[in-house]
Amino acid sequence: MRAHRKSKQQSKQQSKQRRYAVVAAGCTAVVLAVTGTLTTASAAQTHGRDLARQTLAKGDGWGSATTGTTGGAAADRAHTYTVTTWAELKAAFVAGGTAPKIVKIKGTLDADGATCSEFAAPGYDFDRYLADYDPKVWGYDNEVSGEQEDLRAASATAQAKAIKANVPANTTIIGVGKNPGIVGGSLQINGVDNVIVRGLTLESPLDCFPQWDPTDGDTGNWNSEYDAAVVYNATHVWLDHNEFTDGAHPDSTLPSYYGRIYQQHDGELDIVKGADLVTASWNVFADHDKTLMIGNSDGAAATDRGKLRVTLHHNLFKNLVERAPRVRFGQVDVYNNSYVGNADYAYSFGIGFESQLYAEKNAFTLPRGTGADTVLHRWNDYPLTTTDNQVNGKPVDLVAAYNTTHADTPLRAGAGWKPTLRGHVDPAKSVPRVVTRDAGPDRLR
Ligand code: CA
Ligand code: CA
Repeated sequence: MRAHRKSKQQSKQQSKQRRYAVVAAGCTAVVLAVTGTLTTASAAQTHGRDLARQTLAKGDGWGSATTGTTGGAAADRAHTYTVTTWAELKAAFVAGGTAPKIVKIKGTLDADGATCSEFAAPGYDFDRYLADYDPKVWGYDNEVSGEQEDLRAASATAQAKAIKANVPANTTIIGVGKNPGIVGGSLQINGVDNVIVRGLTLESPLDCFPQWDPTDGDTGNWNSEYDAAVVYNATHVWLDHNEFTDGAHPDSTLPSYYGRIYQQHDGELDIVKGADLVTASWNVFADHDKTLMIGNSDGAAATDRGKLRVTLHHNLFKNLVERAPRVRFGQVDVYNNSYVGNADYAYSFGIGFESQLYAEKNAFTLPRGTGADTVLHRWNDYPLTTTDNQVNGKPVDLVAAYNTTHADTPLRAGAGWKPTLRGHVDPAKSVPRVVTRDAGPDRLR
């Protein structure tokens, strides 16, 4: 019933968009507003269930606290846009100030151009970079500096400018049509209130200019910037039915230099620097290493203590290495998520500085030989609540399981708070089925 209604709505939208495509030739900015307005009006009038105007339900996680998350639900015709390129998306974000705004993404937006050389500063030469900072020459004691590092940094600045897009307050971004999404871009939800992101496939940006840090670990590391989405000092954010993935560029395809992987990815989703009141529901987080970080510094008490309150429910975390999530400071409620690990699995919940994780009724499907004691990772000694979770179909006390193999560095039970903002809660045994069926962007159409 639900799927049937969606497909009818979708085909109506597409035919409207086709009909007005003729008008679109010429002035992009004007035409965007015209097509967007007509599409929205027709969907709302015909069906009464306009996904672009849905708001986060009352009580649905931390994002619903206080004033709630409504995004651009109240947008008028002049502030409703349909975009088909990365440049149009950025233009739509800038247009109209902080008035409620709906931005519909149609098709896949390519944020990072054709090749990395587009961003390279004159004189930057990766072969020379490799020669200059080869550990045989430079060693492992000092961070890199000099001409090639300066040129790398300048190149990175150019890429950052191109691939970052700042989402304005009071905005809903939603995918429409077939396979809507962004490749190689970084959505910056930075310093704003009230943002909804729904129905998009977000393929992790590739950093064209990773920095070699000889002092990171015993044998150095290549480090990258850019997460597919960042919530930075922002409040009331709802991320729903999206898919975060490395797509065509999994880490297994990346080269190695100096014996270390040339890591061109950072996170899929980071929630940092005083961000607060976030709900992430029904998303797929797939095929990635460092996936979801809540709080990025132990030293950030001044901005983060009492903030970083996040609810994660009914998300699918599939074929990941670590951080799903890694938590510092926040009261983070993680319930009804499905975790599916493969041979690369390291851990799911990272217990960090002043974290207050509450993990209930999640389901873990782990490969043979990977025990329930791997689900938690203790970065710092802060207590957490785990209750009614399952591993491979069996009820498991995750803290007790961890402590059986980490007797010298145990974790303590009892996060010290109890979540009250929740929607429907499923029993853990239903979670793999329910989440597999309904998480991800396709289910929104
Ligand atoms: Ca590209
Ligand atoms: Ca990051």
